[in-house]
Amino acid sequence: MSIESNKKMKQIAKNLLIERGATIEEIANIVYELQKKYIPSLEMGDCIDAIERVLDKREVQNAVLTGIELDKLAEENKLSEPLESLINSDNPLYGIDEILVLSIVNVYGSIGFTNFGYVDKLKPGIIGTLDEEGKDPNKCNTFLDDIVGAIAAAAASSIAHNFEEDEE
Ligand code: MG
Repeated sequence: MSIESNKKMKQIAKNLLIERGATIEEIANIVYELQKKYIPSLEMGDCIDAIERVLDKREVQNAVLTGIELDKLAEENKLSEPLESLINSDNPLYGIDEILVLSIVNVYGSIGFTNFGYVDKLKPGIIGTLDEEGKDPNKCNTFLDDIVGAIAAAAASSIAHNFEEDEE
């Protein structure tokens, strides 16, 4: 198969997120919660735009495709042991889910890390829902919850950067 165009890759990544239960609107709710205390004039549309900018990045698309594929394969029991059990049970000693999404967290610099740490700890909105859903033995969201948290964190960072530029 040929390398897909950026536009196609973005659409594939978006469809995968929706298919697995994370809509852009739900991710935007988290971005809004993260940034509204700093930017009182913030609107939901700004948060959706920021997520769109994050999803334009090839490294983000690659992380979404890779992580969701591993979740799906684990869910279908198609991985080899011991990786199958490590991913399917969301083993706390695995940790590659958090590492994979650093490529997303990174896209707007170091504010992303702070935001990601925050959402990873508090699991607001859809992240908490996905985390709970993943505890079902027939469901695996090991990568997805981190992917969603990382996209929200990167989008929040993008808004913070843009807002600073507007202030200057
Ligand atoms: Mg995880």
